[in-house]
Amino acid sequence: MTLFNDHGPVEIPMEDDLVHTSEHPFCPDGTCGCHEDETLIAEVAAQVAAGALSPEEATDLVSGKR
Ligand SMILES: [Zn+2]
Repeated sequence: MTLFNDHGPVEIPMEDDLVHTSEHPFCPDGTCGCHEDETLIAEVAAQVAAGALSPEEATDLVSGKR
């Protein structure tokens, strides 16, 4: 999205915080790249290893069901 002010065009990043949060980095959109983001998946795997999440919870989280 581009807005214009006195200094010319200004790029406004689209807000996606509602679907991608630090607590829920995976959105329900199955075609979104977040479900294949190795960095995000590695973080979830680390939480499973730390005992913060069960493998079932991690699977649901990555698939956007939580
Ligand atoms: Zn997403």
